[in-house]
Amino acid sequence: MFNLVIFGAPGSGKGTQSERLIENYGLYHISTGEVLRDHIKRGTELGKIADSYISVGKLIPDELMINILADVLDKNAEATGKGVIFDGFPRTIEQAKALKTMLAKRGSQVNVVIGLEVPDEELVDRLVKRGKESGRSDDNLETITKRLEVYHSQTSPLRDFYVAEGLYAAINGSGSIDSIFADICKAVDARM
Ligand code: ATP
Ligand code: MG
Repeated sequence: MFNLVIFGAPGSGKGTQSERLIENYGLYHISTGEVLRDHIKRGTELGKIADSYISVGKLIPDELMINILADVLDKNAEATGKGVIFDGFPRTIEQAKALKTMLAKRGSQVNVVIGLEVPDEELVDRLVKRGKESGRSDDNLETITKRLEVYHSQTSPLRDFYVAEGLYAAINGSGSIDSIFADICKAVDARM
């Protein structure tokens, strides 16, 4: 089993690079953002709760988010057998610790953390641009600013957490999609 965490700020390209990774390595993709947006679209109870956080740029509370992820893993036990790309999870130290425990229960672990590093100005440009096409309630300047704040205070400390675990591979996330993907592949192949 090979488990990869794709890590980075909002708009850093996690979703885009995940698509390439799925194609190339045949891993199972779990995007917590997509899972939550799907609930919002279907108008479920969970969707209503999620929307109240997402639309103002806040994180879903850890306990709830961890339960959601555990549920996705359990329901897809077979499909996840080869390994998983975790996209958008973990976003807090608490979530990272929970992921470690969940994988350990399956006799598995995180094998590499791909950290897409992009300057804030570029992130804002990308997200504002995406907002014009995506229709996502969180891709507007006010919410984008809040999301970046939340990223720097709650999520970026994970970088040090994974550096300490020897798992963090820093990737320059500016440039062409192809060249970034080539850098990611080098980092992944070195650990496979
Ligand atoms: P990218 O553009 O790099 O794919 P993103 O930040 O735009 O990343 P998603 O990963 O799709 O978007 O997440 C959207 C929102 O869903 C987050 O801003 C947050 O409110 C919520 N969310 C997603 N994953 C988590 C998580 N692990 N913990 C808490 N909230 C989460
Ligand atoms: Mg995404």
